[in-house]
Amino acid sequence: MTTPQGRPELPKTYDPTTVEGPTYKRWLDAGVFTADPASGRPRFSMALPPPNVTGSLHIGHALDHTYQDYLARLHRMRGDEVLWLPGMDHAGIATQNVVERELAKEGKTRFDLGRDAFVERVWAWKAESGGRILGQMQRLGDSVDWSRERFTMDEGLSRAVREVFVSLYEQGLLYRGRRIINWCPRCLTALSDIEVEHEEVPGELAHLRYPLADGSGFIEVATSRAETMLGDTAVAVHPEDPRYRDLVGRTVRLPLVDRLIPIVADPAVDREFGTGAVKVTPAHDPNDYEIAERHGLPAVDIFSEEAIVNAEGGRFEGLDRYAARREVKAAMAELGLLDRVEEAPHPVGHCYRCRTEVEPRLSRQWFVATKPLASEAMAAVRSGQTRFEPARYEKTFFGWMEQIRDWCVSRQLWWGHRIPAWYCPDGHVTVARQDPAACAECGAGELVQDEDVLDTWFSSGLWPFSTLGWPDQTEDLAAFYPTSVLVTGYDIIFFWVARMLMFGCHFQPPTPFEVVAIHGMVRDAQGKKMSKSFGNVIDPIELMDRHGTDALRFALIRGANPGGDVPLAEEWVEGARNFANKLWNLGRFVIGSTGAPAGEPAPGGSLADRWLLSRLERTRAEVTAAYDAYDPAEAARLLHGFAWSELADWAVELAKPRLAAGGEDAQRAGATLAYALEVTLRLLHPIMPFVTEELARALTGVETLTLGPWPAERPGDLDLQAEAAMADLQETIVALRRFRAEHRVPPSRRPRLVVVPAGDDQAALFEAEADSIRRLARLEAVEVVGRHGSGGPGGTLSAPPVGQAAKLLAAGSELYLPLEGLLDLGEERARLERELAALDAERARAEAKLANPAFLEKAPAPVVAKARERLAEVDQALAKVRAQQTELSGAR
Ligand SMILES: [Zn+2]
Ligand SMILES: [Zn+2]
Repeated sequence: MTTPQGRPELPKTYDPTTVEGPTYKRWLDAGVFTADPASGRPRFSMALPPPNVTGSLHIGHALDHTYQDYLARLHRMRGDEVLWLPGMDHAGIATQNVVERELAKEGKTRFDLGRDAFVERVWAWKAESGGRILGQMQRLGDSVDWSRERFTMDEGLSRAVREVFVSLYEQGLLYRGRRIINWCPRCLTALSDIEVEHEEVPGELAHLRYPLADGSGFIEVATSRAETMLGDTAVAVHPEDPRYRDLVGRTVRLPLVDRLIPIVADPAVDREFGTGAVKVTPAHDPNDYEIAERHGLPAVDIFSEEAIVNAEGGRFEGLDRYAARREVKAAMAELGLLDRVEEAPHPVGHCYRCRTEVEPRLSRQWFVATKPLASEAMAAVRSGQTRFEPARYEKTFFGWMEQIRDWCVSRQLWWGHRIPAWYCPDGHVTVARQDPAACAECGAGELVQDEDVLDTWFSSGLWPFSTLGWPDQTEDLAAFYPTSVLVTGYDIIFFWVARMLMFGCHFQPPTPFEVVAIHGMVRDAQGKKMSKSFGNVIDPIELMDRHGTDALRFALIRGANPGGDVPLAEEWVEGARNFANKLWNLGRFVIGSTGAPAGEPAPGGSLADRWLLSRLERTRAEVTAAYDAYDPAEAARLLHGFAWSELADWAVELAKPRLAAGGEDAQRAGATLAYALEVTLRLLHPIMPFVTEELARALTGVETLTLGPWPAERPGDLDLQAEAAMADLQETIVALRRFRAEHRVPPSRRPRLVVVPAGDDQAALFEAEADSIRRLARLEAVEVVGRHGSGGPGGTLSAPPVGQAAKLLAAGSELYLPLEGLLDLGEERARLERELAALDAERARAEAKLANPAFLEKAPAPVVAKARERLAEVDQALAKVRAQQTELSGAR
């Protein structure tokens, strides 16, 4: 519904569901999120961390996106040319798993379809069910430029991937090598080091005896994986270990497989571990592989891809790892070659996608030589071209980068960027930007392309520049690169941020982003991680359904202290919804009582006007500074306090009689209120875009808040004197209201107040504002009396109150409330005595409980903490009742 001037008319209550959808559509129709590289404005750009195409919006996204949206909206309102670029990640393993599960329901595997048909099927799945999250991002209000949406597998990005692969190869920074890699026997793919999660398992240490070949004795080795002995090709000892000096160079007969293997000396052996002699299994352990390289030992691979023992394992063929472990130990025991088995818990790597134990596996893979790239990335951070917010995360980044190992980038999957390498029958490798017709080395025409695809993080590592058209030097790249800020949770600094920095600094210097703004993880109200197994997961879509998008956004941002974790409970989202309702009611009151806004009010005016404009200016400055310091939580806190308490409560209450009286002063009061509301809505817009826009349109007739302007500085509005005077007034009124509430004075009773002010200035203030005090504290009259002499605190009353009166202290003044007709002094004193006695008794019980050693020992820690908390509460309540007694003590 709109008024004749085109301004929406506000319904009585705020209903987010009728506002959010149409508002977002209006923004899209007006193209306000579409960036123009030619505008010549200062630019501000961000690349949205691309969500997985399989994903849907979870609470972590809701925080991450709201955080980015506040930055995008803030800069857009300031007049910057903002590009916030959205898109999705093809998410290799995750997506392939989804489609394979679908196939499994039809009783098929990907091998039944074949590679091309399977990949087609994944694309079809993507078209139909992928990208649900994009619609959910609109729901959340993300102000992204949809005209520039990208996908890591689209044509342009695939070209960038190929360019980077080939360039790295040409520069000697990418190679194919036989290495021990992390292998998932369920997903049947290599995993990079960071895709492996280490977890303590209740393991064992089996002590095995290997007989010397000449029958002169044994050498004992200890291992947590007895089954791998089937692949042993040596025993190694430390060269300086006196226990084994004479054995080095001799031969043992490996039991069960009957292989003769040497005893070698290698400095990598840890003399303290087990017996000091270790079995060497080059195909199944990275350290053993290195020992084997140094001594020219063969590698015997005893497992299939699924980690089933193969023909190399002799009679153990066909057993999985765990069965083989049992059987090998049993067989060794039977031969009298199992000395003992100890329990020895130790960390074991698990696949991050399917939790299967990772198997170290010798295989031929593609690697990126990361050390040179990492030093370029570290240099960009050291020189300040990229900075972390908060800065403490730089240390984490350097810590990881200094220990970086070569990155295995090939994956044995079908869904992803296929590796642009071809092999001829002679095994020559051709790596090329265009599919080659012949071997680059021998000219042979029968080429076979590498079967593998690239790690998903290879393409997402190029995201900040591949999305802008690189390798072409496009207008977008020139205008919006380096991007201004990269927002992300601290959990993927290494996964993703480090890779983007390495690729960006190398291929499109100086850096992919100027600032990395790190936020924490969303946790439950107790700070516990949200997980399905704890049953404490919060669904952001449900919260938006129940409380509105702005409420969810506000609650998340309110908790997002810089770099720290973000606690969230539904009650806090409810609280934020109440805040949206409070703004709505405020907006309706201001619009209803002030008419059309009169623009910026001139400085000066009544105390209430000067105070409100001063507080508004201070809030504007502090909120802007907090936003700029990547501390939106502080901005949210300041705005909540100002809008709720000062604007909606105090300013409105102070203005009511002036508005009702009409005339010039009413106009002045109304204009000041309307202006303060408009500025507040603008300041809040980056966090709560929907309710603020709807209210601003109704208030001022403005088309949209998204394009600003950001409220300008008005230093002339700062008025310390007005703020101090209003603080005295507020303190006085609050003290009177508190007295009424605590002593249960019915609202209908209106006492007379006698004030003895702290000085002449205060006397003048109370005289001038007597009517406000009278109204807001529900009094019959306010009488300001002076002191003899200087009027200072040492003077005596010129007109002391008569009869029984309570005495309150506030803002340095003395407040006397005659009790006649207000409350029955005797009864009130008795009531306070009863309250005191009850509290005293509770205190004694609580103290006794906390002094009881049995309770302290047996009760769970939270119960003891709760008891201590309760004792502190009782102490506070006691102090309060005693203060109330004091207030009445002067009365006769
Ligand atoms: Zn797996
Ligand atoms: Zn060749």
